[in-house]
Amino acid sequence: MAGKKVAVIGAGLGGLSAAARLASSGFDVTVFEKNSQPGGKANQICKNGFRFDTGPSLLTMPFVVEQLFLELGEDIADYLQLRKLETICKYFWEDGTTITAYSSKEKFAQEIEKKTTDSASNLFSYLNYTETIYKLTADLFLFNDFSNWKSLLNRKGLNTLFQIWKIDPFRTMHYANSAFFTDKKMVQLFDRYATYNGSNPYKAPATLNIIPHVEYNIGGFVPDGGIYSLVDAVVALAEKKGVKFVFNAEIKKILLNNRTLSGINYNYKGKEIKEEYDLVVSNADVHFTNTKLLGYSRDVSLKKKFEPSTSALVFYWGVKGDYPNLDVHNIIFSSDYAKEFKELFEDKIYPSEPTIYIYISSKFNKKDAHEGCENWFVMINAPANQDQNRDKKATTMKKMMLERIKTVLGIDLKEKIIFESLLTAADIENKTSSYMGSLYGMSSNNKSAAFLRQKNKSDKISGLYYCGGSAHPGGGIPLVLLSGKITADLIIKSKAHD
Ligand SMILES: Cc1cc2nc3c(=O)[nH]c(=O)nc-3n(C[C@H](O)[C@H](O)[C@H](O)COP(=O)(O)OP(=O)(O)OC[C@H]3O[C@@H](n4cnc5c(N)ncnc54)[C@H](O)[C@@H]3O)c2cc1C
Repeated sequence: MAGKKVAVIGAGLGGLSAAARLASSGFDVTVFEKNSQPGGKANQICKNGFRFDTGPSLLTMPFVVEQLFLELGEDIADYLQLRKLETICKYFWEDGTTITAYSSKEKFAQEIEKKTTDSASNLFSYLNYTETIYKLTADLFLFNDFSNWKSLLNRKGLNTLFQIWKIDPFRTMHYANSAFFTDKKMVQLFDRYATYNGSNPYKAPATLNIIPHVEYNIGGFVPDGGIYSLVDAVVALAEKKGVKFVFNAEIKKILLNNRTLSGINYNYKGKEIKEEYDLVVSNADVHFTNTKLLGYSRDVSLKKKFEPSTSALVFYWGVKGDYPNLDVHNIIFSSDYAKEFKELFEDKIYPSEPTIYIYISSKFNKKDAHEGCENWFVMINAPANQDQNRDKKATTMKKMMLERIKTVLGIDLKEKIIFESLLTAADIENKTSSYMGSLYGMSSNNKSAAFLRQKNKSDKISGLYYCGGSAHPGGGIPLVLLSGKITADLIIKSKAHD
């Protein structure tokens, strides 16, 4: 194993997880990142006295992060403090209803009894149902290599197959949620979890109701210094294990010798450099890797079969004032959720009345904003597309978002914004190579999406591996860290036989 050279393309969280694990097992690992700093979609802006996490804002399944450090013989406390949120999210509607989703299930249940037509028992039976889905699927679909249908032919897989109705793959999320709750606001609140992997609750199978389990039965977390401190921590871990990093290095081609990998070609400081490697792990988007780095035209057909997950339009606003009515995570819901998803996925346009998400890390990390100010990350879901006319459309959406914030929250931000930065689908694609700027790779709007994701080990090219949000097991922080783990484990296992 020693001396086996591995090139990891991309310093996203998936690539970092794979790199740290491989280096810790004795591989000679170099990470090539086209940007000047690591993190990929999980990045940060530090400007004019404000700091913003630019992508993810909530961490679930913290044990995945803890395991990464533990399995590499490190104490996570030396790198990172994870904080469990007491309030997971505050939800606002135009009719004045506000529901606080407390981390304590009992407190959340009381809130629901007070503010909706649903009962505490509806919530508890729903959360039991989501836990059952998790128990029957997590090992099969999240924690392990899932190369093909044969992966189901073991004791655990057969146990799940024999109880397939319990993982609810035949109803949509919305249909299932409507069967558990009578109040439309509760249905909307839980339908929202489809967006955690960029999917449509009116199409995605109810198996995705696994997501509320991880948030309510396990909890919602943030690192003390904001999400980017997780990136810093994993980079420090990788460096300690011997990973080398080359920033501002853009991979142009993955080099092959027939169907075996031979190396990479990259651009660095204006020079084209060719280097030989035994193995390549691509943390870049799968579609980009296949079409641009390998030069396949065949991958174009995937576009028809797969639907990209949603993208985002995000404004990073440094605002004057202190807004005690808001928490770290806040949602202003649209009045017609079905219409919003139709516009996102079918019409592929910005929603005419978007749901607005506001994340304020300065609520828990005062250093993220000036004294007397807050750092608002204000996001709406956007269709995955090339986003032509970016500035014109963003200006229209900004006006609409400010209006909604004023109407629903009673906060007039117009004169209060002292810093602004913007992220569109096109920016996400340019910065991270993500196909159409999608946040989570392919959506799960299709029942067989879990089976159709790119496997971590290429079955076409010997020596090539894929990890990250567009490969198995999917997008979001915990899953991309797992993607890196599954990939590293496959490599370690196969090289042990060499
Ligand atoms: C606005 C937004 C909000 C989000 N909210 C959440 C959330 O709340 N919770 C959550 O869990 N997840 C969230 N996500 C999703 C999460 O950020 C991603 O799923 C995850 O960070 C993706 O990690 P990855 O390993 O796939 O790599 P990516 O982050 O996609 O990084 C890939 C890296 O590869 C590099 N690269 C690409 N091509 C090349 C090349 N040719 N040469 C060299 N380097 C290359 C890129 O520059 C990039 O750094 C959000 C994402 C965004 C953008």
